[in-house]
Amino acid sequence: MKKLTGILLSSALALSLTACSGSGASETSAPAAETTTAAQTKAPESQAPETEAAGIPDGTYEGQGTGKGGTIKVELTIKDSQITDIKVLEHQETPGYADAMDKLRETMIATNQIDVDMVSGATLSSTGFLEAVNNAFEKTGAASDLLAAKAAAASEEKADHYDADVIVVGAGGAGLSAAITAAENGADVIVVEKMNNTGGNTLISGGEMAAPGNWLQEGEGIDDSTDQFYQDILAGGDNENDPELVRVLADNALEAAIWLRDDVNVQFEDYMLFFGGHSVKRSLVPLNASGVELIQKLQAKAESLGVEIHTNTAAVELVQTDGKVTAVKAQSDGQDITYNASKGVILATGGFGSNLEMRIANNPQMDEKILSTNSVGSTGDGITMAEALGAQTVDMQYIQTYPTCDPETGTLLYVGDVRLEGRAILVNLEGKRFVEELERRDVISMAVKEQTGGVSYLFWDEASMQASGVNASHKKEYDNLIERGILVKADTVEEAAAHFGIDAKELQATIDRYNQYCADGKDLEFNKRGELTAFTDGPYYIMKSTPAIHHTMGGLKINTNAQVLTTENEVIPGLYAAGEVTGDIHGTNRLGSDAIADITVFGRIAGFNAATAE
Ligand code: ADP
Repeated sequence: MKKLTGILLSSALALSLTACSGSGASETSAPAAETTTAAQTKAPESQAPETEAAGIPDGTYEGQGTGKGGTIKVELTIKDSQITDIKVLEHQETPGYADAMDKLRETMIATNQIDVDMVSGATLSSTGFLEAVNNAFEKTGAASDLLAAKAAAASEEKADHYDADVIVVGAGGAGLSAAITAAENGADVIVVEKMNNTGGNTLISGGEMAAPGNWLQEGEGIDDSTDQFYQDILAGGDNENDPELVRVLADNALEAAIWLRDDVNVQFEDYMLFFGGHSVKRSLVPLNASGVELIQKLQAKAESLGVEIHTNTAAVELVQTDGKVTAVKAQSDGQDITYNASKGVILATGGFGSNLEMRIANNPQMDEKILSTNSVGSTGDGITMAEALGAQTVDMQYIQTYPTCDPETGTLLYVGDVRLEGRAILVNLEGKRFVEELERRDVISMAVKEQTGGVSYLFWDEASMQASGVNASHKKEYDNLIERGILVKADTVEEAAAHFGIDAKELQATIDRYNQYCADGKDLEFNKRGELTAFTDGPYYIMKSTPAIHHTMGGLKINTNAQVLTTENEVIPGLYAAGEVTGDIHGTNRLGSDAIADITVFGRIAGFNAATAE
């Protein structure tokens, strides 16, 4: 994962440096300013240990800290009292957060300082990285004020404006699907992305996609239809969804999956997952059950069609000319850039799960006490920009928590996918089941909140581990959880339970009862759907988890052409939206694996309509 992230980052960065369709691109970059800073004048030699009077000893020093995903290990290189390199040796941060570490690293090297500002929205990753570098620096035995501060070199000038047919804001799954489709329909397309890397929440998701009538269902003898999917989405959202939008989603999901497979070259695994709230197993799984496969292939396809992706470029305002949206104002490294769109602008900025203020304003329960699985880029910018033009928002109060996340960091735990294979039970500290394990995410989350400590414990056996293979497909996460004691593997149920202080006798009784339901073919307590498989021999596994903010169902109101509507239900000419930035598709609650279907279906619709607009 770390290596993949590096590849993505470097290709995204390369793209941002070579983007050049606009006018006025400056070839020159300003020379680094030579300033004398307080730290420089402040570093009296007498403060350094006597033996190191000349400065900080040259060498490489290792240090570690704790980030959002667990341990962060770094290697700091000092030469002539300068930081010449900081290598991240080990980390489990998801790409958006790894991006924050990258920014800090660049700043530290550029300014020769280890005490730098945290990256907003990525507090845990920033703290962990700063802690690791400071820990490494301590090993030099020198005082940190011996590091002579220098001003960072000015970054490369970009053009002050760019012209294209279609401007897409956000390079997640929806934005890239829209960009590809627009380009396939003859448009010149530029995508602006505020982070250093593409992908957004799509990249850090499992990438699973609901597709009724798909190529794997037939082999498993599963009967499915677009109507059944339509009914599931509506029921899952308590019928608060817009049925017309749901109909479009249900009718086009399979075709979108085939497009991803055949046109974009996304590789799908040969098995499916059974996501909570669906009436049948219908969710396709991309390679390695990871959104990385989707984003890499979407980005490669977009590049092959000549789409430019300008990373590190944040859209801040939409420009209207005679009522039509004709441009996007953006900022990159403090520079103002205007992106002119002759045909249309597509907002694909994702949700607002990482915007605490917006979350609380719409749903006071979703406060800072609740951790989040989201990318740091999910701050609702598209919603804010469109609202300034009178756009309508819907369902903003519906914010979904994912039930099985890291109790310390909020990261979604993919090892817990063993549950979605129907092979695990959820119990509480008292050793009792309390909810159907394949219920909707919101239902399970609410039930978990009611349990002691607001946490749940997922239990499974070795046969289930082998059948699901989650220890291999998510090996890094698995090792990290074991190391931190959030997941335990033990020979006996009693031993596993003791690790968390779970009532072992009660847990054993729960397992015995569950096994009886499996033998009878009916779960008398919670009516668990799907196949029922009894637990057998150890080793046994228990994973502690808690709900964390995952998806914001609310957002911009669009019509079936993905055009953004005003509060008066009128089309805003030239403005389209797709993906998590939109609302009314999932109602009160989105079912698992429906997001990838949604972003692909509506991304393609937005891309087609923008490209073919007059
Ligand atoms: P979706 O699933 O709807 O595609 P994602 O979260 O995957 O949503 O992607 C949304 C992308 O939009 C993220 O990469 C995010 O960083 C980016 N983004 C959010 N706000 C802005 C902005 N103001 N300007 C440019 N990109 C943005």
